Amino acid sequence: MSKLLLKNARYIVSCDDRDTLYENCNLLIRDNAIEFIGPQLQQADQVIDASSMAVYPGLINTHHHLYQLFSRNLPEVQGLELFPWLVALYDVWKNLDEEVVSRSALVGMGELLKNGCTTCFDHHYVFPAQAGDLIAAQFRAAGRVGMRFHASRGSMDLSQKDGGLPPDTVVQSIDAIMEDSQRLVRVWHDPERFSMHQVALAPCSPFSVSGDLLRESAALARSLGVRLHTHVAETRDEEQFTLEQFGMRPLAYMHSLGWTGPDVWYAHGIHFNGDELRQLAETGTGVAHCPISNMKLSSGVCRVPEMLRLGVPLGLAVDGSASNDGSNLLEELRVAYLLHRLTWGREAPTGYDLLKIATRGSARLLGRDDIGCLASGMAADLFMVRLDRLELAGAQFDPMSMLGTVGLKGPVDYTLVNGRPVVQNGELVSADEAELSAQANETVRRYLNRF
Ligand SMILES: [Zn+2]
Repeated sequence: MSKLLLKNARYIVSCDDRDTLYENCNLLIRDNAIEFIGPQLQQADQVIDASSMAVYPGLINTHHHLYQLFSRNLPEVQGLELFPWLVALYDVWKNLDEEVVSRSALVGMGELLKNGCTTCFDHHYVFPAQAGDLIAAQFRAAGRVGMRFHASRGSMDLSQKDGGLPPDTVVQSIDAIMEDSQRLVRVWHDPERFSMHQVALAPCSPFSVSGDLLRESAALARSLGVRLHTHVAETRDEEQFTLEQFGMRPLAYMHSLGWTGPDVWYAHGIHFNGDELRQLAETGTGVAHCPISNMKLSSGVCRVPEMLRLGVPLGLAVDGSASNDGSNLLEELRVAYLLHRLTWGREAPTGYDLLKIATRGSARLLGRDDIGCLASGMAADLFMVRLDRLELAGAQFDPMSMLGTVGLKGPVDYTLVNGRPVVQNGELVSADEAELSAQANETVRRYLNRF
């Protein structure tokens, strides 16, 4: 048993049920959980002086494709929209292997942690034959940098010859997908409180998988007690595809296959109409909002104010690195704030609304009640920001909204995951960043040379 005290924190933005803002208070962590928050001083084995810092709940990323880190900023695809962008990049991604997945995960998770994100969900759906155990490689990377990690067993079974977008070599049979999904859930999924490892089932998208694969994935996920995730309503092209192929709009199609409910969340969710937004709220089906990717791929603007009003479960996400091109959820929060101010004016979410989307909202999408706010009994996942840095001078009247309204330029000072400091003074604790970066660039050269 060990006790860590964050002593005399200037602010603790709890995001708890009462939106409590603590001033000049102490936060005591016992092992991996928060034991106490309040003005009384507590005994501890280790103390961090937090008198010049604001403490926030760890951010939770609800949609990513970490492997895409190594196909960022490629000139060939920068001007494209989603469908042609995917077709061009599948030619790179069909060559990925365990080393690419492992090193890209280390880099992406490192960047997430340095920017206050403590839990990451990754949507991995490219499994070339003989590529190795890609999901095990991701979990090992998460362990090395200290991130709470939700992986997915993604899948594709509709290749170009069947009217899909991916090449033949990266699609698999439904039987192979189901078998590997069961194996990964058995080996890696831990449903307990404070779990560091979970697995969801996540077929790629309605236009790269068959209806049978979607239906069977939903049945298997429910029999195993794991969650369901995919891309829905990202572009008008997708809407056109499901209307032409199945005579239904995307949400009606997904609903017909069992893909609505409180155990389901979609990435993007841009092109829903009013009735569909109400259906999402009524069924508890969630949306991972990815504003930077949506802007970069010219996909559209998610109807966040209406979703909040209706009670649609809503989280924040960076999406894949190749459509972002980064892994910084704090930047995403700030950009979301600006995008919605531009789009909706006075209806736009506040900076604090966006912080809650990125913490409590995201936790709900991942089905977790032990992360997303700071209160006793919750996991000790948090980050800390020194308020005496130059770029925050004069900006501290509203620490609850500050990350949206002012934004943070540069890494956070501390990040703790499950009670353990994983970022200290803005740097990763358990990995040499220069070494990670050099190894990553060496892998990228080899990987892209095959392209
Ligand atoms: Zn995505």
